[in-house]
Amino acid sequence: MKQNNFSIGVIGVGHLGEYHVKHLKTIEKSKLIGIFDLNNKRASIISKRYGVDNFNSQSELIEKCDAISIVTPTESHYKIAKTILKYGKHVFVEKPITANVRDANELIDLAIKRRLILQVGHIERINPALLALSDYKLDPKYIEIQRLAPYSVRGTDVPVVLDKMIHDLDILLSLVKTPLKEIHADGLSILTESIDMAHARISFQNNTIANITSSRIAKEDIRKVKLFQKNLYCTLDLLKGSAEIYEIDSNSNSNIKVPFEYKGKQKTITYTKPIIKDFDPLRQELKNFINSIAGKEKPIVDGINARNALALAIKINKLILKKTD
Ligand code: NAD
Repeated sequence: MKQNNFSIGVIGVGHLGEYHVKHLKTIEKSKLIGIFDLNNKRASIISKRYGVDNFNSQSELIEKCDAISIVTPTESHYKIAKTILKYGKHVFVEKPITANVRDANELIDLAIKRRLILQVGHIERINPALLALSDYKLDPKYIEIQRLAPYSVRGTDVPVVLDKMIHDLDILLSLVKTPLKEIHADGLSILTESIDMAHARISFQNNTIANITSSRIAKEDIRKVKLFQKNLYCTLDLLKGSAEIYEIDSNSNSNIKVPFEYKGKQKTITYTKPIIKDFDPLRQELKNFINSIAGKEKPIVDGINARNALALAIKINKLILKKTD
């Protein structure tokens, strides 16, 4: 018989963990059992604010739950996730999955062996602006992604490539499903001991090229994606939630069509600004986790997807470090 409700706990209730608590309290089929955080002062605040039990130990919480959401710093993901999987419970872990590929592989194997869900919080995969492209046949040949943010101490436990660029590497690998050919990367450490600004030029075996820039030392937040392919060009603003699509000779019903002539033939550029769906990606991702546990859906980003993005991020960071040594 199918289970109706799944009992969930949240480990790590800092900045992002609070939002996990907020959503898991009200998502259908999720029963939020409690929280655990090494910082008991913070846990007490969240416990009072949301009326959830604050557990004294991680294991006590895990024992009472079917699944746990891990929202702690990267370094702790592997150990906590492994413990939960060994208890036979499902795991949602924030990105990056782990600090290294070996640990990620171990978690993937463990989840497969125990038939458990291992899902990773690569939330940008369901950014509403990106999803606006799902009606188009995409085969991008040139991709540009920029993700810049003002400095914040959160996330500086890892290099910018593992904190910010990894979102775009996951998006990239979901768009281009061809093996990698070559990677060139440069970067700089400015405020922290690890790389704070990075640029990678990634080429794939189908000759697609991607230029990705990430920085955590910027004046303002910018998150932009540009895709170019034969007869189609689009720009996305992942922060503001907008998409603009230009197509050549399309039969789209947009009424903005600009004629142009090429080699004596009349052609048109069609401009479309799709309506972006209004939803909260974190809530959507957590709902997908619950539905995946229930066997109704597949995780949007599973352990393997997350491991692949991590492997690429680590490769890029190593290339940068080689040049900056
Ligand atoms: P944070 O520092 O605000 O919160 C982390 C919390 O974890 C703190 O309260 C800390 O006391 C607690 N903690 C640390 N080690 C612990 C342990 N071993 N057991 C229990 N609690 C522990 O950090 P944050 O910004 O909330 O980030 C947490 C995670 O979320 C990171 O992995 C980060 O990469 C990820 N994150 C993802 C996104 C996204 O867009 N998907 C955005 C922000 C952060």
